[in-house]
Amino acid sequence: MAFNLILMGLPGAGKGTQAQKIDEKYQVPHISTGDIFREAMANKTEMGLAAKAYIDKGELVPDEVTNGIVRDRLSQQDVLTNGFMLDGYPRNLDQAAALDKMLADSDRHLDAVINIDVEPSVLVDRLSARYICRVCGATYNRISNPTKVEGTCDVCGSHDFYQRDDDKPETVKNRLAVNIKMNTPLVDYYKNQNVLHTINGERDIDLVFKDVADVLQSVND
Ligand code: ADP
Ligand code: AMP
Repeated sequence: MAFNLILMGLPGAGKGTQAQKIDEKYQVPHISTGDIFREAMANKTEMGLAAKAYIDKGELVPDEVTNGIVRDRLSQQDVLTNGFMLDGYPRNLDQAAALDKMLADSDRHLDAVINIDVEPSVLVDRLSARYICRVCGATYNRISNPTKVEGTCDVCGSHDFYQRDDDKPETVKNRLAVNIKMNTPLVDYYKNQNVLHTINGERDIDLVFKDVADVLQSVND
């Protein structure tokens, strides 16, 4: 099944977690602009080093860089065949307009924007307890979503985990403020396009996923 989706929500709302589950069930390519930047930073590419200055402060990377990355990725064959789940993009109205143009230019449209709604006050704790498998990228949480066997990734069996630098409390506050400011206009933008589905993200991961799967079923009918 091919879907063209956006997963929206504040940092820590559960976009990556739900993307992992959608991918397991429907094999839709997951495009996380944050992951692309982190990989570029780890490889110390020119783009990665330029993006780091913004990411370390919790600011947005300039639109021309981010839009270019998304445009390239959306033109790749796996995405043209199987669709996409955008995670962390668009983050403002200019990016949303740029995305509309990219899709229109290639005769595509969005099937759904899934907005995972979580109160900001919950997110600081969630983000400070997040840890990630260094080998496969699976995301866990020390409090709400630990690995089944302590210290071993459920997905790939690795024992190597890390905490994101920007999940430390100093950066989290600014990241949340930057994203909260842009969230309402983006929600309104997609509400006006009649593609928005808001889901309560303050429940168990599997209950959230049940609602996500219902949305995918409804847009597929
Ligand atoms: P995002 O991609 O939106 O930034 P993540 O999917 O990485 O968010 O989730 C942030 C943190 O919260 C992770 O540690 C994850 O394991 C945990 N998490 C995700 N969904 C839930 C949920 N429904 N309830 C509690 N914790 C969750
Ligand atoms: P995320 O993994 O989505 O939380 O993103 C981590 C960081 O990468 C953000 O705080 C931004 O600095 C940068 N970033 C990710 N996506 C975007 C985007 N769409 N526009 C601008 N900056 C982004």
